Amino acid sequence: MIDKFERPLLELRNIRKNYGNFEAVRGVSLSVAKGEVVAIIGPSGCGKSTLLRCINHLEKPSGGQISLGDENIDCDGTGTMLRGRKLALYRSHFGMVFQQFDLFQHLSVLENIMIGQTVVLKRSHDLACQIARQHLTRVGLAEFEHRMPKELSGGQQQRVAMARALAMSPKILLFDEVTSALDPELIGEVLSVIKELANEGATMILVTHEMAFARDVADRVVFMDGGKIEQVGSSELIFGSPSSERLKSFLFRFRGSEA
Ligand code: ADP
Repeated sequence: MIDKFERPLLELRNIRKNYGNFEAVRGVSLSVAKGEVVAIIGPSGCGKSTLLRCINHLEKPSGGQISLGDENIDCDGTGTMLRGRKLALYRSHFGMVFQQFDLFQHLSVLENIMIGQTVVLKRSHDLACQIARQHLTRVGLAEFEHRMPKELSGGQQQRVAMARALAMSPKILLFDEVTSALDPELIGEVLSVIKELANEGATMILVTHEMAFARDVADRVVFMDGGKIEQVGSSELIFGSPSSERLKSFLFRFRGSEA
């Protein structure tokens, strides 16, 4: 299935996340190859977003190990050994895009895309500006660089958030329900940027409710339920011939809700 990919870029081994006594993620192992697009699907509350946030340490995993290229991180019971600047650098390997865009409202579009580059990556102002403009052009918003976020539509804001993520030259893009907050007519423009990125060979993990899109764009689909991976496979396998009863019933309910 993934033999077109040479070696894992990211490996999660037995990742767990507890909130008090509640286990939101219960021992997830997954490897993602360079250039691979992995979609994570599953019912609301099954731990998809928590898993994604554990990968880049927005949430500190309660246990397990993460390997990113040659870097190995042991996640102990109290969090992780990563702190301060090392943590910021580790996170900078991941471009994360959220449901609610999370742009800085007091900064212009261009400044939003420059700030991480200058503060975390220590790029010069000129280089950061040049890179920001390249990515704004890539998401089709070159003429909007001086606008403030509130002057843009939701779809445009989400494309700025993508340009911001891309400008950090991440190894992996993490997309957390990036179309959920958008009006239906704005979803297509965001999905088409993701599709272009996939075609260009970006490595991506997407949590999504857009089943048709997941089927179309993902090399592999992970179905989570109850904090665990219930089934993983090619999109043909997951959507075409699911073996897990839970997956079958999830897809059945999902199709029902779409009808
Ligand atoms: P999904 O993305 O699949 O909808 P989440 O990863 O957001 O699910 O949440 C998984 C479970 O963890 C849910 O039951 C949610 O209520 C719980 N959870 C998420 N974040 C927190 C938190 N900060 N504190 C306590 N419980 C949380």
